[in-house]
Amino acid sequence: MQTVRWVIERDQAAADHPAVLRAAQVIRLGGLVAFPTETVYGLGANALDARAVAGIYRAKQRPLNDPLIVHVASPADVEALADLSGLRERAQALIARFWPGPLTLVLPRRPALPALVSAGLDTVAVRMPNHPVALALIRASGVPLAAPSANRFGHVSPTTAQHVLDDLDGHIDAVLDGGPTTIGVESTVLDLTCDPPRILRPGGVTREQLQAILPGVLPIAPVVAAAGQAMPSPGTSPVHYAPRARLIICRDTGELLRRREACLAQGRSVGLLLRADQRAACQACHPYFMLGDGLDEVARNLYAGLRALDALGVDDILVTAVPREGLGEAIADRLARAAAKTQD
Ligand code: AMP
Ligand code: MG
Repeated sequence: MQTVRWVIERDQAAADHPAVLRAAQVIRLGGLVAFPTETVYGLGANALDARAVAGIYRAKQRPLNDPLIVHVASPADVEALADLSGLRERAQALIARFWPGPLTLVLPRRPALPALVSAGLDTVAVRMPNHPVALALIRASGVPLAAPSANRFGHVSPTTAQHVLDDLDGHIDAVLDGGPTTIGVESTVLDLTCDPPRILRPGGVTREQLQAILPGVLPIAPVVAAAGQAMPSPGTSPVHYAPRARLIICRDTGELLRRREACLAQGRSVGLLLRADQRAACQACHPYFMLGDGLDEVARNLYAGLRALDALGVDDILVTAVPREGLGEAIADRLARAAAKTQD
């Protein structure tokens, strides 16, 4: 299969833009189109078409017990996918505050929605992305889009169209290239079907922000699926978000430099993921990838950094830990998962 790349400026995005119209036609015919959201690129298919949804799992080589997020273009579209009776007030308060945005709500699934979208669970995960290209595509398609991150299963999520092609070229119909994503880590997944609601995956909306609306919300439950069972949240798979290289998380810059020397002494090649304030102490260390300053920039650049150092073929990637507060919770979670792959 030939994968087409359609470039679109985010401020030109509209449901009648020629690239969006062509992409929407692919979706309606049951095809796969990757598209930018504010978090990472998604791999979209018509969520109402079980065959199209099966194509997502195939292209990503994703296990069938790993449910997908359904993307909508308006809060009103949730009602057709999920049964809100009993939790309407909660859901609406969250939607009013955080949509469009990086908050995915897990809700009771309406039976009309293909079970494959939810990996057979009786719940469905829904969100409205805050990106004009994503919203234009959903509107032009006229259907909700099932869309997990547009990477091979277990690999680092894509934050540019090139990342998508690096993983999926030849396996999907098209990618809408709307430039790099702005948040850079995936959405927060919040389960509203339990009481109190529970965060299944930390992400772009922080625990502190959720607690302001839902004081009783429970923090991340470290759930890992038993073999053959549906995972309550795909982000809970410990092999998620992994680069090829070994990732080592250090407490501070001093430990980072010591670990680097130790790895080099073993004949291993080492790349560093650095924050701006570490550059001076690490100026003799090459190669490195600059994540930038502050948690927003670190989140935005993290996956590009992992991919860039992987592409250089280094054996080890070293990074210092971030505080588990605000967006740091999502960053720390992704770093821990990426490191888990090679440390056990
Ligand atoms: P990805 O977009 O590839 O990171 O994966 C899709 C995300 O969907 C996962 O991280 C899950 O958290 C979430 N998800 C999808 N459906 C459900 C569901 N029914 N229950 C819980 N989480 C879900
Ligand atoms: Mg993913």
